[in-house]
Amino acid sequence: MPDVFADLVGQDEAVVELRRAAAAAAAVLRAGAADRAPALITAGPASGAEFADPDGDAEFADPDDGAEFADPGGAAAAGGVDPAAGMTHAWIFTGPPGSGRSVAARAFAAALQCVHGTGCGECPGCRTTMGGTHADVRLVVPEGLSIGVGEMRALVLRAASTPSGGRWQVVVIEDADRLTEAAGNALLKAIEEPPPRTVFLLCAPSTHPDDISVTIRSRCRVVPLRQPPADAVAEVLVRRDGIAPDVAQWAAAAAQGHVGRARRLARDPEARKRREAVLAVPRRLTGVGAAFDAASALIEAAEAEAEASVAEADTTERAALETALGAGGTGRGAAGAMRGAAGQLKELEKRQKSRATRAQRDALDRALVDLAGFYRDALTMALRAPVAPVHTDTAALAGAGAQKWDAEGSLRRLEAVLACRAAIEANVKPRIAVEAMMLALWKG
Ligand SMILES: [Zn+2]
Repeated sequence: MPDVFADLVGQDEAVVELRRAAAAAAAVLRAGAADRAPALITAGPASGAEFADPDGDAEFADPDDGAEFADPGGAAAAGGVDPAAGMTHAWIFTGPPGSGRSVAARAFAAALQCVHGTGCGECPGCRTTMGGTHADVRLVVPEGLSIGVGEMRALVLRAASTPSGGRWQVVVIEDADRLTEAAGNALLKAIEEPPPRTVFLLCAPSTHPDDISVTIRSRCRVVPLRQPPADAVAEVLVRRDGIAPDVAQWAAAAAQGHVGRARRLARDPEARKRREAVLAVPRRLTGVGAAFDAASALIEAAEAEAEASVAEADTTERAALETALGAGGTGRGAAGAMRGAAGQLKELEKRQKSRATRAQRDALDRALVDLAGFYRDALTMALRAPVAPVHTDTAALAGAGAQKWDAEGSLRRLEAVLACRAAIEANVKPRIAVEAMMLALWKG
């Protein structure tokens, strides 16, 4: 296995910062200081007092590691410790979808558990973390629209226990923007008074208050990831997934910096077919009726895609729960058990419904991003901007659009697609938002 950061595409600055933090964390462990609270520097404006703790300084006084913390600006203010360079116990990874937020969080978790260095990829700590089986790394992947308070409380409780591997308890929360308010509060409490060996890694699109509460944000160090350049995405598809260079190049451009999407486009003929159907929309908009037809087609395609993606998991989960509940059992107690089971099955159905809704929204959003790419191509062509098209295979069509609509008309259409995304994000019913968009695209 290569280095744990190998799949974090085009994020060199972030990798440097994370490696440095992992080295600092290892130094803390070597000094045996992690068990004295507060072991780690707490980020945020309210935490100044913690830096003044005279005992705390010893953690960073290891001469071997001194160079890593030698920031001339920060040193004086923090009593010899630069809070920006060392380790901290709460992090937020931000960036556009597909930029690798969860890849970065997972790799950093591995680097913290690495027994050889800062994410060698070879040791048991790295391997089990990357494989998802490390006993001290908990990964929360919300499947529904939100992460509930019950789930969060249980997680926080477990995260407070002593790490069995002797290093860190790491909690990775993907899509932290989907925390309910109550769950966010439960998490905040844990971040405000962190157990000495616990590290929280949150992933969110941005640090906007809509995504992450201001109070949680103020306690975390932020690692911003950028949209990886197409060349970097193509390179990883070739190297890691063995995809032919020309296919990789096309898929990387078409996916607009979304690594996972690029891989799907390169490998999955169904994904390519769905994309082609979406990109056929602009030339089909010949009237009001056609606009409504196109809206229906887009919604139904998203529903079908979502259904296919969750159906298997739904069936497996239900079967597992029924087995666990002893469905089909007879004899004394079986009837009572089944009454309790009905409640649990209902709970599962609720969760599955929420996941299906999320999958539909994600599928629809992918389609809208493809469509936005098309109108973006038309706009750049109308402006004669010297940039490569997103969709090389529909470039001729976008060029024809550019002639017909001019820059202004192309821009209005691009804005209509973006407005549709924003409306759905703001909970407008998808069908209504998509119909409005198609009419706007037709009228220009
Ligand atoms: Zn390692």
